[in-house]
Amino acid sequence: MNKIIIIGGGASGLFAALSASENPDNDVTILEKNSICGKKLNICGKGRGNITNTAKLNDFVDAFGNNGKFLYSAFSKFFNNDLLRTLEYMGLETITERGGRVFPITEKASDITDTLVNELTSRNVNIKYGIRAKSIKVEDNKVIGVEIFNGIMKCDKLIVATGGMSYPKTGSEGDGYNFAKECGHTITKLSPSICPIISNTPWIIDVAGLSLKNVEAKIVDKNTNKTLTKEFGEMLFTHTGVSGPIILTLSKYIADQTNINNLEIKIDLKPALSFEELNEKFTKEFKSNIILKNYFNSILPKSLAKIFSSIASIDENKKLNLITVKERKIIIDTLKDLTINIKRLAHIDEAIITKGGVSIKEIDPKTMESKIIKNLYFCGEVIDIDAKTGGYNLQAAFSTGYIAGQTN
Ligand SMILES: Cc1cc2nc3c(=O)[nH]c(=O)nc-3n(C[C@H](O)[C@H](O)[C@H](O)COP(=O)(O)OP(=O)(O)OC[C@H]3O[C@@H](n4cnc5c(N)ncnc54)[C@H](O)[C@@H]3O)c2cc1C
Repeated sequence: MNKIIIIGGGASGLFAALSASENPDNDVTILEKNSICGKKLNICGKGRGNITNTAKLNDFVDAFGNNGKFLYSAFSKFFNNDLLRTLEYMGLETITERGGRVFPITEKASDITDTLVNELTSRNVNIKYGIRAKSIKVEDNKVIGVEIFNGIMKCDKLIVATGGMSYPKTGSEGDGYNFAKECGHTITKLSPSICPIISNTPWIIDVAGLSLKNVEAKIVDKNTNKTLTKEFGEMLFTHTGVSGPIILTLSKYIADQTNINNLEIKIDLKPALSFEELNEKFTKEFKSNIILKNYFNSILPKSLAKIFSSIASIDENKKLNLITVKERKIIIDTLKDLTINIKRLAHIDEAIITKGGVSIKEIDPKTMESKIIKNLYFCGEVIDIDAKTGGYNLQAAFSTGYIAGQTN
């Protein structure tokens, strides 16, 4: 029997076990430090589990930026359709939503974990809960086992599926980076990606909790006023900055930049109307003697309306028919370009994904085996790959896990 040990029972580890247990000559064990598998998988997509995306291969790979090319090989062997077929075979149906995002039909991410664990149990995969791998034992550049609390478990193949270091309460505390480092691997710079953005724009605290739908948020270069990237959709103000779907997507762009001090966020609160159309609308409507404060109440959410005059530096008690052309322009500029400064990205604890990890240069993309230590494999977020939101990251975990588990 071929003894295979997988460290981590998350998305990638469960798929590595599924793939390894296809071969009856393999004796497969998962070591999971938590008392359950898939703690992070269970909270994915706000508990609904956006497991993959229907995007075509090239677009899928593009979602990972520069390191995406590393995944071609894994995706060519096990891609989105293979995932959906595998889940369906195990009795889990899926549904595709806007943007090609795929979810379990039950809208419960935990159903994916349960389905996988049930299948692995029926295949006699040994899942050891509450066992933390402490270190990897190597002899003559070859893995011989893994150290746990009461000694060394020997194995012929070791798969590191320990995840990244975001949301550490789920068990992903970055252990895999230390294991890899001790084996001579390079760990590229670790930083948060897909996370809230912290700002010190003073009025943000006044609108904390406000969610805006159908707005456009842009990342702008402060020096050139050039828009670098933009997203349309929903966002949220927090006590410390901004979050919500479009901000999380923009944060990935920021994580990739070297000097974030040159960047700021501009929000278009009325993206359906151009500057000229708003000007025309206001020229017509600014004929009454309603005061500005009350007018803002009719076109903006309450908490934002309350502070909008002060953001635009215009007297909120001024009557509409007394607003000058210059003031009208300032109001439109503020509506179309509500500016928020960027202090930094939120702490890695709050990030959806860890940017950086085991260098892809040191892993064989066809097998996920280490190029440095024989019989050592990596899969999932511990590798230096990360994508935008939309189900890409889980598919990468499933695909690399599947490849790492193969023994033929
Ligand atoms: C809030 C949130 C929502 C997300 N939503 C989505 C989404 O909808 N779609 C998407 O594509 N991606 C999503 N992601 C990202 C996705 O969860 C990860 O990319 C994915 O879980 C990575 O899988 P993994 O197997 O590499 O790591 P993990 O899922 O983190 O699993 C690692 C496992 O290893 C265990 N472990 C770690 N160290 C040890 C050790 N020393 N010994 C034993 N066990 C150990 C951990 O306990 C954990 O169970 C989300 C992430 C977060 C935080």
